Amino acid sequence: MTCDKKIKSKTKPCLHYNPNPDTPVGKCSAPGEFGLCIEAIKKHPLPISHSSLHKFISCRMSYYLSKIKGVTTKAHKLSDPVKMGILIDEYLNPNKKESSHEKLYPDSNSFSYRKVLATIRAIKMLEIFPTIPKPVGTQVKVEIKIDEGQVVTGVIDRLYPDHFVETKYSSSDYYTKKQFIKSQVATYFLVDEGLKYVIMEIIKPPALKSTGQFKEETADEYEERCYQAMLTKPSAFFHKYDKENKNFGVVFERSEFDFDKIIERYKQVLKEIRVATEDNAFYENEDSCLQPFECEYLPICETGWISDSLYEKRF
Ligand code: SF4
Repeated sequence: MTCDKKIKSKTKPCLHYNPNPDTPVGKCSAPGEFGLCIEAIKKHPLPISHSSLHKFISCRMSYYLSKIKGVTTKAHKLSDPVKMGILIDEYLNPNKKESSHEKLYPDSNSFSYRKVLATIRAIKMLEIFPTIPKPVGTQVKVEIKIDEGQVVTGVIDRLYPDHFVETKYSSSDYYTKKQFIKSQVATYFLVDEGLKYVIMEIIKPPALKSTGQFKEETADEYEERCYQAMLTKPSAFFHKYDKENKNFGVVFERSEFDFDKIIERYKQVLKEIRVATEDNAFYENEDSCLQPFECEYLPICETGWISDSLYEKRF
């Protein structure tokens, strides 16, 4: 199926094609359009990552909005677990040039924000992370070649010579289950045969409520209460907390994963993405709207409208 806005050009995929060094293929600049040029993608398939594979499998529409149209949720409208995860990552990787605190939480008295501050203070006080030997790198961008001309991309939280660490901020225990983390973790094991194990560090945000005697408490008081709760019982917040060694997390061994299956799946999904791009078959899958987490694009699918107050267009 050819794009109905396409105007033939001898030098470009379409007269509306706008090359861009920041995007894998150029953008569409036809009137009223945005996003990447679908005709160019047909010739130069987009790189795939564990998360884009997952998006395509769970709902093609979410893949289309994210990867082809470049629609992202504005920072302050992201869900709390996502915001908290970003800030904890920043704390653990202090090299990042600018802090995201204000962008994510313009209101510094928001109780959700104070949970993050309490968590960071607890991490410092319990001296959990500083005892970990220096990693080879943090937020390490990796590329795994799975086929001729086709790579899988990813970002590893902390990489060491013989293992890697992923830190998740989540109130669910999904990340302790092999089935849930398999796709991401097995992909990262493929980076280097010397990687023997992964540690999944799961931080549970405090779920304290401001009710009863705490109904009138201030943001400062709430933060302090969360902080004290985390210090009093670290094992309730840092999964498998080990007081003696000052660390936490679940270990999964390399031998627990089947890499052939993972590679085969990438290859198969890449073929399916190619066919979907040809046929413009990025249909919605309502089964994924609310599970396992609410989809960030739900307001778009429900209203058919991309609200400027909720979303921005990356390209
Ligand atoms: S809201 Fe539902 S249908 Fe829409 S992109 Fe998300 S998962 Fe797909």
